[in-house]
Amino acid sequence: MRLHSPRWKTHKVSDVFRLPEGSETRLAGWVHTVRDLGGIVFLLLRDSSGLVQVVASKSELDEELFNALRGVKPETVVSIGGLVKKSPKAPGGVEVRARTIDILNKAAVPPHLEPASRSKLSLDERLDNRVVDLRKPRNVAIFKFQSVLLKYMREYLNENGFVEVFTPKLIATATEGGAALFPIAYFDMEAFLAQSPQLYKEQLSSVFERVYEIGPLFRAEESQTDRHVSEYVGVDVEVAFATYEEVMELLEELLIYSTSRASQELEEELRRAELDCLKLEKPFPRITYDEALSILAEKGVEVRWGEDLSTEAERKLGEAFKGPYFITDWPTRTKPFYIMPKPENPEVSFSFDLMIGRIEIASGGQRIHDKDLLMSRLKSSGLEPESFKHHLKCFEWGMPPHSGWGLGLARLVMALLGLSDIREAILYPRDRWRLVP
Ligand code: ATP
Ligand code: MG
Repeated sequence: MRLHSPRWKTHKVSDVFRLPEGSETRLAGWVHTVRDLGGIVFLLLRDSSGLVQVVASKSELDEELFNALRGVKPETVVSIGGLVKKSPKAPGGVEVRARTIDILNKAAVPPHLEPASRSKLSLDERLDNRVVDLRKPRNVAIFKFQSVLLKYMREYLNENGFVEVFTPKLIATATEGGAALFPIAYFDMEAFLAQSPQLYKEQLSSVFERVYEIGPLFRAEESQTDRHVSEYVGVDVEVAFATYEEVMELLEELLIYSTSRASQELEEELRRAELDCLKLEKPFPRITYDEALSILAEKGVEVRWGEDLSTEAERKLGEAFKGPYFITDWPTRTKPFYIMPKPENPEVSFSFDLMIGRIEIASGGQRIHDKDLLMSRLKSSGLEPESFKHHLKCFEWGMPPHSGWGLGLARLVMALLGLSDIREAILYPRDRWRLVP
């Protein structure tokens, strides 16, 4: 398959390193850096596949062209025809001797924002100028990793009998109560942006049995943290006739498969970007909520039984477990109304969180499939059964026992690559204070 018009580009930059000495090539991309040594100009040319040195010498080029090139600013878009030459001094041992150069579009990026600049920018400054920030090879690698990771997640799920579904993001009722919802103007009706596909994927488990959805979710998070944003991509799974242990195992297998495949495929690229993907190994340790409380007590952090874990508690647990681990059997009151309480002890539920270090990556559990139990849990969670009437109907029409989980994609990438803020794993993050660019 030809990816580019040869008018501008016959190879991508990373191909050049595999071409025989003397091959003709035409590359197109962005000028990363320019060094003018008088009779000779060295360019680092960047495209989305990498960087290569281009050498333009006065003696080999038309004079007008050569002079235009000397004044070219970083991020200018160029198409360069030339010959591949071995050159031990060039990065990667190869350079391109330029024969023709087309300047396709001039750029004027403020020098401190140039992708090649070594200036230390704050995350906010980077995000304010995101498109040039994204062109840094490290960022290109982060988002290629995300894309390839998703490819393998889809592959795993598709090969294991799952149907990919798309559920509405414009909704009339809160999934789990109204606190974190964004209200929107929807003609003359009350409406919100979906915070989770929970209710729909449960319904669809009664149709397809095994469903997954990968799509945007919206949460009106008031607090500014390093792992909460207002819009994120969720990976959601729901499986009919499965227990919570089975969907934990599915999550474990899926993550091991997709991360090992993705880090293999992008090995070279990650290494060049000095990124390291966490190696995941089976089995992920499993501790119950009660065991987590004991570990925390030993570390001097008191959590009252029945409370959610604080950021501090998650941080302390993260010191004890470096890789992924499950916290299971949460108090029913810490979980949403649709989570199944254990019949022998309804204070505790068939539920789990998957953590990597201090970061919660996914939450899941077995869901209630009995209508009366669901009604009573709805009421005791302070929700109005009337506003769930379309959902509740389904529970009279043959709802199988089912379990599932929801995972935050950016949190996963953040934890796997050891990024310090979730915003680094989102192209254009949205949070309490950011709605642009
Ligand atoms: P937390 O306790 O960290 O606020 P949560 O328990 O409210 O998360 P869930 O409702 O369990 O989140 O959502 C499932 C997954 O979606 C989480 O485990 C997390 O990976 C991701 N997620 C939830 N909220 C956000 C958010 N605001 N930004 C990014 N990812 C999120
Ligand atoms: Mg959760």
